[in-house]
Amino acid sequence: MKGVVYVSEGCFRLGDRERPAVVEAGDAVVRVTLSSICASDLHIREGSVPRAVPGITVGHEFVGVVEEVGPGVGDLRPGDRVAANVETFCGECFYCRRGYVNNCTHPLGGWALGCRIDGCQTELVRVPFADNCLTPIPDHVTDEQALFTGDILSTGYWAADISDISEGDNVVVIGAGPTGLCCAMCARLRSPARIVMLEVSPWRRTFALEHGIADVCIDPSSEDAESIVRGMTDGRGADVVMEVAGGEDTFETAWRIARPNATVCVVAMYPVPQVLPLPDMYGKNLTFRTGGVDASHCSEIMGLISDGVLDPSVLITHRFTLDRIMEAYDLFASRADGVMKVAVSVPRPDAEN
Ligand SMILES: [Zn+2]
Ligand SMILES: [Zn+2]
Repeated sequence: MKGVVYVSEGCFRLGDRERPAVVEAGDAVVRVTLSSICASDLHIREGSVPRAVPGITVGHEFVGVVEEVGPGVGDLRPGDRVAANVETFCGECFYCRRGYVNNCTHPLGGWALGCRIDGCQTELVRVPFADNCLTPIPDHVTDEQALFTGDILSTGYWAADISDISEGDNVVVIGAGPTGLCCAMCARLRSPARIVMLEVSPWRRTFALEHGIADVCIDPSSEDAESIVRGMTDGRGADVVMEVAGGEDTFETAWRIARPNATVCVVAMYPVPQVLPLPDMYGKNLTFRTGGVDASHCSEIMGLISDGVLDPSVLITHRFTLDRIMEAYDLFASRADGVMKVAVSVPRPDAEN
């Protein structure tokens, strides 16, 4: 079978892969039907994820059909349609028991798929802790609707949760890329007064507005975002800021644009350290929340998709098949042609004839 291999820094290649098998009792092998490319995959390719292991199959955002289960797997059966979680987790360690699955201490815990063990940009993938990490997809939910459940949508859902958004809040989301849009979609579930997105790309601003994900978009490169947000809030500033851009000055924008006693949720991954100038923000009494997603709410998210409350499939702008996935990489990395997310389908070998 074919799969995208992390060959070395700067190099991914579509090559031949070994068919995976059940190794541990709790494993499942899943036949991938649809996968995507995440910004984290690009981070691996550029060498900025030191724990990524050369030689593995990359990819961690996918849906598929259970092919085989180990003897320790509970309810899942071959033939079940499932969405995968970016984080495999044991469910039993100190952190897992508290819902902090990102920090699972098991050797296969946290972000392992497509980073430290073989991932999903291929035909078949072994998923450890299948009971914890595969979410059944209801029949009426499409693969495209379910595709982002375990990664960028989980990030948005988790970020909205830890941002303490109250009804009627003014929420600012910095960055209208795929993850920023998921954060805004999930913030919307909490009935804010308005969602303001800061984004330098004109077509991303248009996308956010056209899909009703943002109420207002500001171009921070040509407009004074801080004074516009103050103008909307009786001079106070944002009640909640979600920083998803990771740009040169976006962390500073995040805390400046926040009102006193606001929550600033930092989802972004920065290439360099950021400065926290405490004297400048003394008395502002901000709450900062930081870090990588705890993807522990996939069942709730699938329920919201099933009920028609969330439909992240609008983010899919381009579709490819696995044999053309390297073209999908080029497009996604270039941000050309209005690409937001790509969906890569994997035809069944026996369906090709
Ligand atoms: Zn990802
Ligand atoms: Zn654990």
